Amino acid sequence: MKQKLMKQILILCVPVVACCAALSSMGAPAGVRCKYCGAEARDARTLLSSPCPKHPSGFAKGKHALFEGEARDVYTCVYCGQTAKSVRTLVSSPCPKHPDGFAKGKHSAYEGTDKSSYTCKYCGQTATSIRALVTSPCPKHPNGFAKGRHSPAR
Ligand SMILES: [Zn+2]
Ligand SMILES: [Zn+2]
Ligand SMILES: [Zn+2]
Repeated sequence: MKQKLMKQILILCVPVVACCAALSSMGAPAGVRCKYCGAEARDARTLLSSPCPKHPSGFAKGKHALFEGEARDVYTCVYCGQTAKSVRTLVSSPCPKHPDGFAKGKHSAYEGTDKSSYTCKYCGQTATSIRALVTSPCPKHPNGFAKGRHSPAR
């Protein structure tokens, strides 16, 4: 009688354990994310095969693009230094320092690694944070002298 009960408990427990394992793997960071909209997918192939609602050319005018940075706790906008806890949150609001003009586009998440010093990819100017680097105009900006701001290299 007692043994039968144990058996029943075991049978009951197995599906619960399997279910917990599935949940915890769902909780792990997704493999890849889109740099325009922050959508997450298991792998790049899946992500890149579907249209992006926030593509720079317009709603679903192109596919998701791979965010090439690592998964991290805080994402920083390359244009203005604004931070957010996810790419999705960051890229959902307009950027006051977007290259096309004030709020002419969304924030864009920095894809490089965290550094103690950030270097401008155009002129080599350095600063201790992205926010500090991008506040000033760049003398060697591709659009011309001071036609845009410094931009952090990866
Ligand atoms: Zn997307
Ligand atoms: Zn921004
Ligand atoms: Zn510069």
